[in-house]
Amino acid sequence: MTSIASPERPVALVSGGSRGIGRAACLALADAGYAIAYCYHTPGDAGLETRSLLQALDTPALALQCDVSEAAACDGVFAETIKRLGHVDVLVNNAGITRDAPLATMTPDAWAAVLDTNLTGTFNLSRSAAFHFMKRRAGTIINVASIAGVYGNATQTNYSASKAGMIGFTRALAKEIAPYGVRVNAVAPGFIESDMTARLSDSVTSAALARIPLRRFGRPEEVAAMIRFLASNDAAYVTGQVFQIDGGLVL
Ligand code: NAP
Repeated sequence: MTSIASPERPVALVSGGSRGIGRAACLALADAGYAIAYCYHTPGDAGLETRSLLQALDTPALALQCDVSEAAACDGVFAETIKRLGHVDVLVNNAGITRDAPLATMTPDAWAAVLDTNLTGTFNLSRSAAFHFMKRRAGTIINVASIAGVYGNATQTNYSASKAGMIGFTRALAKEIAPYGVRVNAVAPGFIESDMTARLSDSVTSAALARIPLRRFGRPEEVAAMIRFLASNDAAYVTGQVFQIDGGLVL
């Protein structure tokens, strides 16, 4: 199969690129000149909308359905990206879910689904990328964590644990592969407008807004701007860091 990107064009692979922050990251990286591969979970045409938006920008775009919690599926996504786009320069581990409940009533399935998607999914894609990046002595990984992983959120023990795990993973891997010239960072968004926060009740939304000094939820593009910066050479001396994008929520 022939490559759909020129050999010189940098390539970014974004997990969960079909909606929300992942879609905004795809568009921001496309604007920075990257060819884009992204994966999504739910089979069907909705997963392909980001690809249409990218193609309208004349960006080579590859959309792949997969479940990031499955190692073989992630290996397949990475291999297909290399086959179609030639190489990978940037991996954004963005795919994530919530299954909120107080711990006393949280089911083992809700615990496992969140850890498997958010944390094991990050491990699965990063493992393929790290090997590729170390061989090339270049590349960067950006993990989309959450302030829940820094400070904890009631009714989100599963989600907070998964995101705290991503932060520990970020710091450990940054130290491990920095000698190969590969950088690993995380962003920790607060409340961002997306399908994930659209599910929050009115009372939770009002309480959150009252605690945010900037008095609004963030936009996916505002997280994507930090992802774009961390992917760029302007961040060439930045690794192992966690950047909070939360409107001042945790001040
Ligand atoms: P979203 O709108 O719900 O989108 C989630 C994305 O992840 C979708 O593209 C979804 O694919 C994909 N996905 C879910 N499970 C997957 C799986 N098993 N395999 C592959 N892809 C999967 O979420 P969002 O608000 O943009 O959040 C994106 C990331 O930011 C998540 O990691 C989230 O935890 C984090 N975050 C969000 C906020 C916030 O306030 N929104 C705050 C802090 C951190 P489908 O479209 O196919 O379902």
